[in-house]
Amino acid sequence: QGATTRDLTADPARFAREILDPIRAVVGERGVITDRAAMQPMMVAWRDNWNGRVPLVVMPATTEQMAAVVAICARTNTPIVPQGGNTGLTGAGQPHGDDSEIVVSTRRMNRIREIDLANDTITVDAGVVLQVIQETARANGRLFPLSLGAEGSCQIGGNLSTNAGGVQALRYGTARALVAGLEVVLPDGQIWDGLRGLRKDNAGYDLKQIFIGAEGTLGIITAATLKLLPLPKASATAFLATPSPATAVSWLRRAKSSLGDSITTVELMERRCLDVAIKHNASIRDPLPTRHDWYLLVEVADQSTHDALEAHLLSALEAGLDGGELVDGTVASSAEQAAALWRIREGTPEGQRLEGASYKHDVSVPISKVAQFIEEANGALETRFPGLRSFAFGHLGDGNIHYNPLQAEGGDGSVWQSYLPEVNQIVHDIVAKLGGSITAEHGIGRLRIGEVERYKSDVEMMMMRKLKNCFDPYNIMNPGKLLTRARLSPGTA
Ligand code: FAD
Repeated sequence: QGATTRDLTADPARFAREILDPIRAVVGERGVITDRAAMQPMMVAWRDNWNGRVPLVVMPATTEQMAAVVAICARTNTPIVPQGGNTGLTGAGQPHGDDSEIVVSTRRMNRIREIDLANDTITVDAGVVLQVIQETARANGRLFPLSLGAEGSCQIGGNLSTNAGGVQALRYGTARALVAGLEVVLPDGQIWDGLRGLRKDNAGYDLKQIFIGAEGTLGIITAATLKLLPLPKASATAFLATPSPATAVSWLRRAKSSLGDSITTVELMERRCLDVAIKHNASIRDPLPTRHDWYLLVEVADQSTHDALEAHLLSALEAGLDGGELVDGTVASSAEQAAALWRIREGTPEGQRLEGASYKHDVSVPISKVAQFIEEANGALETRFPGLRSFAFGHLGDGNIHYNPLQAEGGDGSVWQSYLPEVNQIVHDIVAKLGGSITAEHGIGRLRIGEVERYKSDVEMMMMRKLKNCFDPYNIMNPGKLLTRARLSPGTA
């Protein structure tokens, strides 16, 4: 069916009568924003490349309010853009710029509902900020291991809807692995209470997994029961120099057999990442006395003592130095030193943003093919676009590389941006050839919506469309994200 988007403000009296007033009656005055200036921060993305326009932002405070709001939208065929902390990187949380949708935010749904320490679970509203969950777990002697640069502002509903990965996915898996149950408001306004908190449940399809990573296209997550883990007693952080991605992978393989499960983080960075992080942030310093081409930020954690864990780590480093996989390194001797090492990694995206136009890719390939991917992508791009500066960093431990080449030094950013489709295709064709994915953790959103069809089979696209059509036949849930924007009119499903 063709696209049938409509400007909700074309008939203001009808908009007020059918949508705004009934919604206001449900959520109260505090639950709506109609002032364009006040809603502006929720219209733009963190990276500033998506900018939307809606006549209404709704902020329900409870699941029941959320269900009533969605039911009004279903009745009036009003498209909804669910929004959490608005830190997503693919335009999935931004409305389109044509007043055809409303934003429904979970920011007022921020209650910790329950902690069950015997079951090792915590049940929270969807709008609870990730860092609050981490801190609550820690205060109760537990670990909630999902960890990413935006953790001070992203919300668990957004984390689950993007199936966020982060810096500890190597050991603990992505957000998907940390969920025991969900509560969801379906596109027709029904509430599904799946907050079971069970470790084992084989009574049919695992429905919660359908909503995780769905980018708000199948329903609105209103609460989650999350798995908690034992809080490690000891941790150690090292910053290592390695000659190449190939030697980094080879050391990781060796380290996994000696350090086992204690490895929580292995982040790869090329020298240019350090250069831009240092250049644009006065608090970041090179921790090693000489320059090297590639670096690893490694963290280990377990239930032993700090001394025992550090001894283990040092012996894995020595083995790497002996084998030529590592050429230099330092182990943090205090929490402050560890934080300084982390600042290099965390300062990399911001340093890159300030450096000029870049091409962002969030790809994954089998860990064994990371080096081949970087080498082939650099080679192909340097041949086609002389001067383009390679820029690779990210979660080597799970094969997820942020491959973001920078424009040639001093080049015109807008000219370089015009090369984007060709750059994307070169990079993503290599990823596909190596059996990888064109988005490892950020999702499809609007950024990859056209491209994904090139890399998924017809069968896979057909199953995704059927799933969408089954849950949301009128396409009111985040239309134009993940799948193309075509909407069905009521009665045609
Ligand atoms: P939003 O940005 O508000 O929304 C994201 C998507 O989820 C949208 O499609 C939205 O419609 C949908 N959504 C939000 N809430 C709900 C809900 N309750 N129900 C249904 N749908 C909903 N991501 C990683 O995976 N790993 C990283 O290491 C990482 N690092 C980052 C570092 C920085 C500095 C920044 C800015 C971002 C980073 N991200 C990373 C991306 C981003 O933080 C994550 O995608 C995060 O999970 C999004 O959460 P949010 O609450 O901000 O969601």
